[in-house]
Amino acid sequence: MPQAVTPDAVREALRQVRYPGFSRDVVSFGLVKDIQIDGGRVRVFLAVTARDPSIAKQIQTSVETAVRAIPGVTGVEIMVRPPAAGGPAPQPQPGARAPAAGASPFGAPEPTPSLAGVKRVVAVASGKGGVGKSTAAVNLALALARLGLAVGLMDADVYGPSVPLMLGVSAQGGQEGGRGPQVAGERRITPAESYGVRTISIGLFMNEDTPVVWRGPMVAGLVDQFLRDVEWGSLDVLLVDMPPGTGDAQLSLVQRVPLSGAIIVTTPQDAASTVARRGLMMFRQTRVPILGIVENMSTFACPHCGEVTDIFGTGGGEASARMMNVPFLGGIPIDPTVREGGDAGRPVVVSAPDSAA
Ligand code: ADP
Repeated sequence: MPQAVTPDAVREALRQVRYPGFSRDVVSFGLVKDIQIDGGRVRVFLAVTARDPSIAKQIQTSVETAVRAIPGVTGVEIMVRPPAAGGPAPQPQPGARAPAAGASPFGAPEPTPSLAGVKRVVAVASGKGGVGKSTAAVNLALALARLGLAVGLMDADVYGPSVPLMLGVSAQGGQEGGRGPQVAGERRITPAESYGVRTISIGLFMNEDTPVVWRGPMVAGLVDQFLRDVEWGSLDVLLVDMPPGTGDAQLSLVQRVPLSGAIIVTTPQDAASTVARRGLMMFRQTRVPILGIVENMSTFACPHCGEVTDIFGTGGGEASARMMNVPFLGGIPIDPTVREGGDAGRPVVVSAPDSAA
């Protein structure tokens, strides 16, 4: 008598299927939405949000192979839900069968993120912490706002949510007629505002003593909430200050946020290293266009005489950008004004707009 196949056995088998390029499996990533069994026939419902159709195809094939290998399985059908509509980049995967609306085996449709009025979502990322990613994100937001664009800045760096400090905004209020976050009806939040930039950060709701170990598991849920429950309104660009690194939490984020592009911040020391390259790979794998590399702390601008010194030698960032075939967007000197401005809630774009930085 053939062995009975159970959903648990299928789920267990799928725990061996890794997300391409990452150590985590497709089950723990939440890609497996449902498993239906009819005798020896197995149907697996997958929700793949990767923008690259070849990733979805790869996952589909590996899942199929894993399920076929289970004793007692006589047939396998893999249903792939294409990426949600409405995001800037995703395209339905050719050949994927989307279930009919209404009786969706994927369960209730996921709430539409409140990004309908947002034209572009751009990630600011780094291979590791402390390279000046948040500094770059905050100053870029202010610079774009000063060009007359409607700009939002979402602080997804739960490990070091420095955006509120740098933008001089708190639950109580912000700069230049800004304000703290407000409740706008049931489960809706209006973002805080400072220097004309709309922003949301866990730092606005949580005190600094909350242990960092708590935060890792919160990243995904928090970001979903920032996307779903925050009234961003109409924006030309929403910048996302990513958590540093290229691990599973970051990949999961890249999958969740409908990104139009990514900017990678490095320092001369790690520009050419595998750290930066892994960052590039992460976005390439998920088909998020890389807008370019910013090299921070590339030279030292003397606060006294203004002389610029190449402490680490020149051209590192540029050379590695060329090597990795992505645009080099520019270098920012080490300048004490940058740090002081960040600490005082007056970023250098505001406090010293004419400085080299
Ligand atoms: P990350 O977001 O990558 O962790 P931050 O933006 O928080 O890094 O920067 C780390 C520290 O370095 C902050 O104190 C910041 O003010 C300082 N910093 C960043 N860029 C510069 C710079 N170009 N010159 C001087 N200090 C800088």
